[in-house]
Amino acid sequence: MSRDREPACKKCRREGVKLFLKGERCHTAKCAIEKRNFPPGIRGMKRRLSEYGIRLREKQKLRHFYGVTEKAIRAYFAKAARQKGVTGHNLLRLFERRLDNVIFKAGITPSRKEARQLVRHNHFNLNGRKNNIPSTLVRENDVITFRDTNREFTKNRVEVLKNYVAPTWIEYATKDTSFTVKHLPTFEEIESPVDVQLIVEYYSR
Ligand code: SF4
Repeated sequence: MSRDREPACKKCRREGVKLFLKGERCHTAKCAIEKRNFPPGIRGMKRRLSEYGIRLREKQKLRHFYGVTEKAIRAYFAKAARQKGVTGHNLLRLFERRLDNVIFKAGITPSRKEARQLVRHNHFNLNGRKNNIPSTLVRENDVITFRDTNREFTKNRVEVLKNYVAPTWIEYATKDTSFTVKHLPTFEEIESPVDVQLIVEYYSR
C-alpha cells in the first residue's frame, strides 16, 4: 500500500474542517484548525473552486477521514452502487463497517490511524479468530476481542473504556471485554464531515 506522508493537520486545514486524524490532540486548543484555520500554502490564499473542484475536495475529505487510498474508495463506490438503496448512504455505511473504524468507534483507540496500526499488529480477534486486515467489513453480531487480555495495552484501554459511550450499534461487554456489532450502522447513525451526494456526483461523471 502506498504511504501517505502528508502531515495530518495539513489535510484538515486544506479541507477547512476537523477530520480528527490525531486522536486526543484534535479535542484540544493545540488543534491546527483552532489555531490556523486557513489553507496551507502561499499566505493561506483561498482559491475559488470550480464545480468539479468542489466535488473533488469532498471526495478527498472522505478519503482522509477514513484513511483509505484512491483505489480503495473507487472499489467501495462500485460496491455501493451495486447495492440496493441510495448509493451515497451505502458508501458511508461500507466505510463505517471497516474493522479499523469499528475499533475506533468502540473507543479502543483515539484515532482510526491508531486502530489500523493495532489491527495490523495482531491485537484483535474477530469472532474468535485472529484478524489483522483493517479493511475487513464487519457483519451483524460479529464479536471483536483483544487477543491478549493481560497486556499492559489492553489494561490501559479497558480503563479508558469505562468513561466512553460507544454508538448504539456497538455493544461493549465488560465481563469478557468484547465488542459486539449489534446491528449494522444506519446512515443516520453515521457522523461524517462530508456531503456524500457530491461524492456520488464526482464518481458518476
Ligand atoms: Fe485535524 Fe486533529 Fe490536526 Fe486538528 S489536531 S487539524 S482535527 S488532525
